[in-house]
Amino acid sequence: MMFSDGLTPRPARILVVDDQPINIQVLYQVFHHDHQVLMATNGQQALKIARTQHPDLVLLDVEMPGMDGHEVCRRLKADRDTAQIPIIFVTAHREEAEETLGLELGAVDFIGKPINPAIVRARARTHLTLKAQADQLRRWVFIDGLTAIGNRRHLDTQLSTEWRRAKRNGSDLSLLMIDVDHFKRFNDRYGHQAGDECLRRLAGTLRETLRRPADLVARYGGEEFACLLPETPFAGARQIAETLRRKVESLAIPHADSDTAACVTISLGFCTHEPLGPTDEEQFMRAVDEQLYAAKHAGRNCVCGRIADAQTAPATTD
Ligand code: GH3
Ligand code: MG
Ligand code: MG
Ligand code: MG
Repeated sequence: MMFSDGLTPRPARILVVDDQPINIQVLYQVFHHDHQVLMATNGQQALKIARTQHPDLVLLDVEMPGMDGHEVCRRLKADRDTAQIPIIFVTAHREEAEETLGLELGAVDFIGKPINPAIVRARARTHLTLKAQADQLRRWVFIDGLTAIGNRRHLDTQLSTEWRRAKRNGSDLSLLMIDVDHFKRFNDRYGHQAGDECLRRLAGTLRETLRRPADLVARYGGEEFACLLPETPFAGARQIAETLRRKVESLAIPHADSDTAACVTISLGFCTHEPLGPTDEEQFMRAVDEQLYAAKHAGRNCVCGRIADAQTAPATTD
């Protein structure tokens, strides 16, 4: 995906691909004041840079020895990680047949050689704007409107990714579920707006506590949150859960109608999946839910966790 933490935009990057360094130089001069310019002099190099640097626009020469521009375009469009990058062909041959082929391969535009700087700049601006808008939409799909942290869709997507990664690498994966204690009474007493503000503060506390780039904090729904912690063993997850519990308590948000404390508190359940754990993501989720339920049952404002093993959840009959 285009953002390491999932959510933060960055300045635009243009990848210029041409086998003639002089042509790259011309385009570099056009763009380097306003954008970061990446350069490649052959197709293989272009593919590698596109996959690792995630440019926002590719200016692609058609005629190159070895892999030509059409083939580069085909491969970029076939790869899920690079398919959304707009490609403009830069070509000396503006025949109908060639333009048709380029458009069919997924290019968004053509620029003729020799380069006219004003035209190149204008066309690039249009496609960079469209790309930025599309990126923004892709981000919003994964953001919770109230708290601005990830939403449930983001959690589900990341859990699948991290689940497969953990299986592949034999690494630990921990998942925490968090539920605010007696939150209905909080709303009833202080009003919905105060309730919303409280959820925002809790989300902020979760986010600032989880600092690793791979960690994900999400609002699972209502007054429930989740933290996905890749490569985090049981002891580490328990420590984080306990830190979160304590930090929320020390926010000291008054809650006069709570049976648990005089302030807002949370209950936390978590599981750590070790290499020989259950094979099923849903089983894992259910096991985490059970731990949250246990924390509620144990009196709230506390943490319950366990290592998920093959016997974690009742076997399904199939
Ligand atoms: P428990 O300690 O057992 O978790 O009790 P609870 O009251 O927190 O749990 P319950 O599931 O009965 O109620 C959850 C409440 O959370 C219901 C609703 O008032 C509140 N809530 C859910 N979503 C929102 C929201 O977006 N904003 C506000 N202000 N309140 C919400
Ligand atoms: Mg060429
Ligand atoms: Mg709840
Ligand atoms: Mg609750």
